Amino acid sequence: MALMAGVIRRLDEAVVNRIAAGEVIQRPANAIKEMVENCLDAKATSIQVTVKDGGLKLIQIQDNGCGIRREDLDIVCERFTTSKLQTFEDLASISTYGFRGEALASISHVAHVTITTKTADGKCAYRANYSDGKLKAAPKPCAGNQGTQITVEDLFYNVTTRRKALNKPSEEYAKIMEVVSRYAIHNSGISFSVKKQGDTVADVRTLSNATTVDNIRSVFGNAVSRELIEVGCEDATLAFKMKGYVTNANYSVKKCIFLLFINHRLVESNALRKAIETVYAAYLPKNTHPFLYISLEINPQNVDVNVHPTKHEVHFLHEDSILESVQQHIESKLLGSNSSRVYFTQTLLPGATASSADVVKSASSSTNQGGGKVCAHQMVRTDSREQKLDAFLQPANKPKPSELSAVTPQDNNNKQSCKGTGLQDAEMEDCSDLNSRDQAVEIAEGSTESQPAPPEALPARKRQRTKCDVEMEEQQKQEMTAACVPRRRIVNLTSIATLQEEISNRAHANLQEMLHDHSFVGCVNPQWALVQYQTKLYLLSTTKLSQEMFYQILIYDFGNFGVLRLSEPAPLYDLAMLALENDESGWTEDDGPKEGLAEYIVDFLTKKSAMLKDYFSLEIDEMGNLTGLPLLIDNYVPPLEGLPMFVLRLATEVNWDEEKECFDTLSKECAMFYSIRKQYIMEESDLTTQQAEDSGAGMRSWKWTVEHVLYKVLRTYLLPPKNFTEDGSVLQLANLPDLYKVFERC
Ligand code: ADP
Ligand code: MG
Repeated sequence: MALMAGVIRRLDEAVVNRIAAGEVIQRPANAIKEMVENCLDAKATSIQVTVKDGGLKLIQIQDNGCGIRREDLDIVCERFTTSKLQTFEDLASISTYGFRGEALASISHVAHVTITTKTADGKCAYRANYSDGKLKAAPKPCAGNQGTQITVEDLFYNVTTRRKALNKPSEEYAKIMEVVSRYAIHNSGISFSVKKQGDTVADVRTLSNATTVDNIRSVFGNAVSRELIEVGCEDATLAFKMKGYVTNANYSVKKCIFLLFINHRLVESNALRKAIETVYAAYLPKNTHPFLYISLEINPQNVDVNVHPTKHEVHFLHEDSILESVQQHIESKLLGSNSSRVYFTQTLLPGATASSADVVKSASSSTNQGGGKVCAHQMVRTDSREQKLDAFLQPANKPKPSELSAVTPQDNNNKQSCKGTGLQDAEMEDCSDLNSRDQAVEIAEGSTESQPAPPEALPARKRQRTKCDVEMEEQQKQEMTAACVPRRRIVNLTSIATLQEEISNRAHANLQEMLHDHSFVGCVNPQWALVQYQTKLYLLSTTKLSQEMFYQILIYDFGNFGVLRLSEPAPLYDLAMLALENDESGWTEDDGPKEGLAEYIVDFLTKKSAMLKDYFSLEIDEMGNLTGLPLLIDNYVPPLEGLPMFVLRLATEVNWDEEKECFDTLSKECAMFYSIRKQYIMEESDLTTQQAEDSGAGMRSWKWTVEHVLYKVLRTYLLPPKNFTEDGSVLQLANLPDLYKVFERC
């Protein structure tokens, strides 16, 4: 039996390239990671990813970065072409992601690549097609915005084995969402989105004005974001800096979620993960793990950035010492959080020290705007730790609400609809430990030191764990471990997508900027507040703004709410009767007896209970009792006096016949009920200070709620509609330069 010797042949160059490319790009998510990094290198502030079949059929990445020059289009897809590195020495000080000039080349060897790009000074955009690293035909001029769009079609069309190995588009899509959402968290200030082609709603979406915590919230949900501790340390001798957010001892998942960036590159380090997890072992239940987002900056000379692209696991100089230092820092932070836990779960917890730094930063960045010298009359006070309106009001003769309303620009005719019924005492419990937990975070993020509610002043009221807590956590865990990507339920309803689009089409960009960057001056009353933006003073209708915000939350987070559970079920029948007895209901004898109507309402709403619960977390039991309301934002309970009217209007004002109309009107009614109105102050002013204190955090001052809960969320969440500038919801009262003129004359 003769053994035939194999003939050794030199491989075809195209095959060599294809094999090499397959090493760099193993799945759609790798390609996307490389391309997202290119967008970031190009200083983009908006990065949108669209995919089809988990990226196997199509990947499209659109950015608004610097673009690629026409003359470079010929060679971008050739190997070892890069605009970011020229000599070997440059490697040591590399600050951009790419440097190998290998990504696009590799992709073009295993897919059809089309680049459409325009630079700022280019006259028009150009489109070019590539295959096997080469330009197929001269780039064609075309219309386009500044930035780059790269389309990758039929990935691995020429690598059958690889394509076969990736036969689950849903898995690939989950991986893509994971990669992009992690970059989104690491790059707050840049908006990211990921969606499937043809969908109007993105599955990952972050806004350019959102903070890191906002982004963690939108990707991983509230359960994680509310338990975060800000961490950060540095060491000059070891030449590293670390910052990030980690969960405290109240949070745990089955599988560790670890987002690690080293020099802004998403990498893995088992050594670091183990080091940190050892710390948590003492705090978390057995076999559970934390959520960790860590950004390490290490002197580039000490990290080997030139690792193989698929080799995510990195090592660096002084690794052990750096790990130890990070470990110690996290331990100290966790310890701090644990000692406060004994009394009041989280009040003393996260990031209390971090906020002031943020404020200083924002203060200095806005005064430095434009770089040049700032004239006195253009100076802007942005440090919200400075005195606010309250500082000028005498606490002793605090004006009564009625006196206050003299300065109210709009007379409020809301009536208290159910005073004396005992309903306003209804105590609420939610699944997220509404009143006790987030306070420190709020103070931190709202960054005020002058505000009330120091943790010690509040009664140590540790909430019982409810069954609901456990359920939520269980659910959370399962979802988290499933893919470590968004726990959100993805809602694919055209009606909701359309409503979301309508909201974003109505948005007023300048107003949004003002809301985002304002300094809070003070509350005039529950319905009106003063804020400063640049040199201008504005009067804002808190009622209108909060109403719109709740509406937008209902539409954007549709089907994804927590539950505010009523401590005692509230019979819909009684609520409806209360509402009908109120003049506001407009009931007349022609409408028939109230009892009959109330019965009808109970019957009607009970029939809708499955939908109300599923989409709106509005819970009604079989007995016709209301048991839960949607938890729209943390730390906020809607003014309960509005509940009877809300129930009545649910039956009478909502259009139940058409899907879109139904969700729209239902959300509007709900938003109206949640918005802050006059009742709020009445409820509180009837109490003495002592009573207010006795009743605990639930009765926290409405002023605190307006400033630290509503306006904080308004800042990042609200897309203010254009009509706010016309309908008196936002009024400019004064402009500093004009005031200077007035004073000069005096
Ligand atoms: P590298 O990033 O290592 O330089 P790539 O193959 O990823 O290599 O990219 C090659 C070159 O193409 C980059 O150096 C850059 O000049 C250009 N490029 C790629 N993507 C973009 C983009 N989104 N915006 C601007 N330029 C880009
Ligand atoms: Mg690159």
